[in-house]
Amino acid sequence: MAGSLVLATRNPHKLVEVTRLLAPEGLAVTALADHVTLPPEDGATFADNALPKARTAAAATGRPAIADDSGIEARALQGRPGVRSARYAGPRASDEENLLKLISEVPAGSGLRYVCALAYVDPGTGVERLFFGACEGAMAPQRRGTRGFGYDPVFIADELGDGRTMAELSESEKDAISHRGRAVRQLVAWLREST
Ligand code: IMP
Repeated sequence: MAGSLVLATRNPHKLVEVTRLLAPEGLAVTALADHVTLPPEDGATFADNALPKARTAAAATGRPAIADDSGIEARALQGRPGVRSARYAGPRASDEENLLKLISEVPAGSGLRYVCALAYVDPGTGVERLFFGACEGAMAPQRRGTRGFGYDPVFIADELGDGRTMAELSESEKDAISHRGRAVRQLVAWLREST
C-alpha cells in the first residue's frame, strides 16, 4: 500500500508519531500548510473534534486527509480532562502546565485512559471514516521519563506490568500499546481492505 495522507494537526508530536506509524505501510504523511485554519476543538467527543479537522484539511488540499483528536480521561475526575486535555490548565496551557495540574488532582495508582479518535476524509470519493484506540493505565507515584510528550511521564500502561511510564518506553514500545497506535492500525487495516 503506497500513497500519502495529509495530517491535520498543529501538534508536532502527533506528526512524528503518526508518520512513524504509517511509514512501514508505505504511507507518507504530509503536514498541513500553516495558512490553513483548523476549526476550533469545541466538540463534545473526540470524534466530534477529529472529523471537522480532517474535512478542513481534505477541502484545503484536495487530498485524502486524517486528523487525530486525543486526550486523557482520569477516573478520579469522572473522565476529565477528556476532550479538554490540551486546555486542561487554561486556554493556552503548555503540556507541562497540564501535566502539573493532573499530578495535583489525581492520586497515584488511580485509573487513567488515553483515547484517540482518528478521522479519515477523501475529498475525491466523499468517503469519511472514524477509527478509535484506547490505552488503559494508572497514575504513576511520581513523574518519570523524558520520551513521548504531554501526560506520558505519569501514565503507566496496565499491560506493561513493569511500572515504567509511557515516557520511559522506546518509540516502538509506545506505538505497540498506545491509543494512537491502535487507531492508526485500524485505519491501515481498513485502507488495505478497501484499496
Ligand atoms: P488535541 O487532540 O490536540 O486536542 O490534544 C491532545 C491532548 O492530549 C494534549 O494535551 C496532549 O498532551 C494529550 N495527549 C494526546 N495523546 C497523548 C499521548 O500519546 N501522550 C501524552 N499526551 C497525549
